[in-house]
Amino acid sequence: MTPTGEQLCYTDAYLQSVDARVAAVDTGDQAALIVLDRTVFYPGGGGQPADRGLIVRIDDGRSWAVRAARKVDGEIVHELEAVDGEPPAVGDSVRVDLDWARRLALMRTHTALHALCGVVWRDYGALVTGGNMEPGAGRMDFEFEHMSGDLVDAIEASVNTELAAARDVRVEVLPRDEAFAIPDLIRTKVNLLPPGIDEIRTIEIVGLDLQADGGTHVANTREVGGIRVTGYESKGRINKRIRIELVDAP
Ligand SMILES: [Zn+2]
Repeated sequence: MTPTGEQLCYTDAYLQSVDARVAAVDTGDQAALIVLDRTVFYPGGGGQPADRGLIVRIDDGRSWAVRAARKVDGEIVHELEAVDGEPPAVGDSVRVDLDWARRLALMRTHTALHALCGVVWRDYGALVTGGNMEPGAGRMDFEFEHMSGDLVDAIEASVNTELAAARDVRVEVLPRDEAFAIPDLIRTKVNLLPPGIDEIRTIEIVGLDLQADGGTHVANTREVGGIRVTGYESKGRINKRIRIELVDAP
């Protein structure tokens, strides 16, 4: 199903705010759910949590906190904090504002995880099996049988070198066939995507990493700063987890 609302986070990750109109309201049991004709919210997915922020009605300045967002049948749905009183109504003109400090931290963290993933693949050929993040910290799991403390130190240093190299981060949307033709993209399990999807969004850290991905990222690795490995652990004989946090560039 093609969504009717414009989903601006995928084309401009730096858009913090946009004017919109309320397209649908579901008052639900707990919290009202709002669909807008356009939004800057990221609905969560691929290990990146959904945005938080505000919906402000233009007419009277009343505002509602948005505690989460998610995709329902392709539409981005905004979940309001439970409040007394009416939610905005269908047709209301509103401004939708992100909690930008939090989103920017997630963009930096997400980009750092791609750099980590790119280094581990390039230097050790280890596949990613999963990942997760919060603002400023994240983890990735790898099929990486021979990981050790020494290797983790070397990985941290290499990731920081790559981030400091000021590499551009490019977003592209490719036809499915063209995306499948990129050999390394398979490691991010592009082949698990449902057959109905005919376009694939890719994120490239130019010269380091290319992945099929739906998240939001900074435009250049220098915006990340640096990383520190805060821990690593075995999740089995093969599967290993590396935890990182963002730090100022070393
Ligand atoms: Zn990503």
